[in-house]
Amino acid sequence: MDEDQLERFKEILTRQRDEVLQNADDTVSDMNDQSDNYPDPTDRASIESDRSFTLRLRERERMLLTKINEALERIETGDFGICESCGGDISIKRLEARPVTTLCIDCKKKSEALEKARGE
Ligand SMILES: [Zn+2]
Repeated sequence: MDEDQLERFKEILTRQRDEVLQNADDTVSDMNDQSDNYPDPTDRASIESDRSFTLRLRERERMLLTKINEALERIETGDFGICESCGGDISIKRLEARPVTTLCIDCKKKSEALEKARGE
């Protein structure tokens, strides 16, 4: 992969990271806005489930954020676009669709097949 391509992926990843951080900020301020003063138990129940949804979302955001940071690190160290399983190149097309990926399509298919075999 050449410098221009790396630079482009760096931009994509940085933008994704900003979006995730922005979302996380919104989520936190939403939660702070919610008053605990809901006398109707039905309302309270729906507020509680909203809140657990929000927390799940934040867990996913945190995971995504970690993946984005790791991908940015790999750009710096020169490992970006290299499959961590077989050491081969990950196709540009695949990276464009999913810049945080660490596996080439063949290894990804293999690991998915393994997960299925284990019943996960
Ligand atoms: Zn591979």
